Amino acid sequence: MALFDKYAALIGQFASLEATGYNPFNVSFDTVLSPTEAMIGARRILLFGTNNYLGLTYDRAVIEAAAEATQRLGAGTTGSRVANGSYGTHRQLERHLADFYGRKHGMVFSTGYQANLGILSALAGKDDHLILDADSHASIYDGSRLGHAQVTRFRHNDPADLDNRLRRLADTPGDKIIVVEGIYSMLGDTAPLREFVEVKRKWGAYLVIDEAHSLGVLGRTGRGLAEAAGVEADVDFVVGTFSKSLGGIGGFCVSDMDGFDILRVASRPYMFTASLPPSVVAAVTEALNQLRHRPALRQQLLDNARRFHAGLADLGFNIGPEASPVVSAIMPDPATAFTFWSKLLEAGLYTNVSLPPATPKGLALLRSSVSAAHSRSQIDHAVQLFAETGRAMGLIGDQAAAPPE
Ligand code: PMP
Repeated sequence: MALFDKYAALIGQFASLEATGYNPFNVSFDTVLSPTEAMIGARRILLFGTNNYLGLTYDRAVIEAAAEATQRLGAGTTGSRVANGSYGTHRQLERHLADFYGRKHGMVFSTGYQANLGILSALAGKDDHLILDADSHASIYDGSRLGHAQVTRFRHNDPADLDNRLRRLADTPGDKIIVVEGIYSMLGDTAPLREFVEVKRKWGAYLVIDEAHSLGVLGRTGRGLAEAAGVEADVDFVVGTFSKSLGGIGGFCVSDMDGFDILRVASRPYMFTASLPPSVVAAVTEALNQLRHRPALRQQLLDNARRFHAGLADLGFNIGPEASPVVSAIMPDPATAFTFWSKLLEAGLYTNVSLPPATPKGLALLRSSVSAAHSRSQIDHAVQLFAETGRAMGLIGDQAAAPPE
């Protein structure tokens, strides 16, 4: 038996995609022109499948900060935060994050994935219980395994089910740690956080929220869903990423928990990996500054999200009820999702195909995401391409794609 025989099913699926000439997992952009446009070969593509919510990847000040930091501090740190890889700028970014969230402590990781790995594996030891929303991101599941904790799942966004699970665990030893997300990345829905907080209080559990997709998007000052729901005081740990609204890479956790800094020597995904390079730290620090001081970006994002959401809803696509920057059209099956995706790309529009196991409930999704950097005409053009393609494929009726006013 050959080493990769265990992947026979996956290899088959991949080969059949390659045969179509369009493999969504193999797209690469040859040139990126702006947060909303790129080139694939000689073709100009409109980007509606990034996580560049505030469009900060091309912000002048962000780029200049990265360039200046590279000149001043070099291209990389060549080491871990607990060895030679802690620079003053890492500490400064941690202070900025803690300050932004009004928390005592902040810790920066090399990716958002590692932030979940590092926090969940270190918070929950083998006798503790992690209670996860069933639709949690892979990094939350993987982090839960890494610490050997007992893992319980509750039905997505269902406070009554969470309550039941905690009741059943009431007599077991160990801490109970609930993990939810702000905006869920696949369907763009948000957690019923107030109800979760009531359950958390009732059972004396801890609450971790991953604000990966809601930082810079929700809340009066952009801190995320906990701020929007008015329950920040009941959230014990906020985890997030720099790779979406902040346009960089890296992850973080902030908290008021006394003794937080022990995580720096208890969290293996923090300790045993190289720290973020100076360019990224500087770019993210400046992007955070922009996020804080340019609330108009968030307003623009929400206006754009509403326009795009309404456009697809009016056409009759099966999308979620909430106007969030993530807008996913539910497709009847994976093959239709692939065909739709490839036709859109041929027409010059890039979106994401999302399939199980990455999607909830086995759904095949055509996921789009909106940026503050999209213009009205780009949004209307994207809606128009959805209309033409959807009609040609018989997925929607003949309604006109009238732009919302
Ligand atoms: N948490 C959630 C909810 C996510 O959606 C993602 C990325 N899609 C991550 C964590 C990981 O973040 P990163 O890609 O920055 O490592």
